[in-house]
Amino acid sequence: MLLKGKIAIITGASRGIGESIARSFIAQGATVAFTYIGSTERAVELEESLTAEGGQARGFKSDASKMEDAEHLVKEVLDAYGGVDILVNNAGITDDTLLMRMSEDQWDRVINVNLKSCFNLTKSVLRTMLKARSGSIINISSVVGVKGNAGQANYAASKAGILGFTKSVALELGSRNIRSNAIAPGFIETEMTEKLDEATVQGWREGIPLKRGGTPEDVANACVFLASDMSSYVTGQTLNVCGGMVTA
Ligand code: NAP
Repeated sequence: MLLKGKIAIITGASRGIGESIARSFIAQGATVAFTYIGSTERAVELEESLTAEGGQARGFKSDASKMEDAEHLVKEVLDAYGGVDILVNNAGITDDTLLMRMSEDQWDRVINVNLKSCFNLTKSVLRTMLKARSGSIINISSVVGVKGNAGQANYAASKAGILGFTKSVALELGSRNIRSNAIAPGFIETEMTEKLDEATVQGWREGIPLKRGGTPEDVANACVFLASDMSSYVTGQTLNVCGGMVTA
């Protein structure tokens, strides 16, 4: 029970990596407030399944790209549970195309959901974490943010921006015992990747040193480590969970 008594907010946890993080946090004794944007049915099912296992969990429909929603969410969580110890900025989208064809709207939407959301949520939990002189903020970036990717200029920029944000928050808030770290997953097999052609996916698997795509649980395990006191001397870092795709 590495997270016993801790209260966590996880954005974008109705499915995929976020859902797995929510399940792992509950298994480690945390209380979980998670968000989603459109998957109300999945969110209700998840809330029921997490509470059936004896955990305390609640889903909130909340647009991470909107400051107003973030502030409202944190207020509701504080009213319900009295604090926030862990924030996982996981909500993310892709809208891929070559730069030549990318519209301003495609750029703005991806930057807002993936990067501005980190600013919105982090700023909204700051006061309560500062008061507690404790907190762990985990931002889900991507190896694409580390090395770039053709056809994903918007996504790569948002994920690289998260890395700069993570380091700056770590420098600003270390003296208050608030830690800020990023996870950069590689190719993780979720609904986000299910839409892809199987032959292409197999080619990717073969190019990964560990010869497989990652699972949402691989990312969730890293998240538990960074959320817990096991990582109490770790801040400002990026943990690549990518089967060796990135080695620096
Ligand atoms: P996913 O299966 O598509 O799930 C995305 C989640 O984000 C859903 O719960 C979705 O809610 C939520 N969401 C989308 N827009 C939102 C918004 N504006 N406000 C709040 N929630 C929102 O994605 P995933 O593969 O699990 O990815 C999770 C994170 O890991 C993302 O940040 C992604 O960029 C990153 N990542 C993924 C991979 C990979 O290979 N899968 C690799 C590197 C990094 P609804 O269900 O309501 O739409």
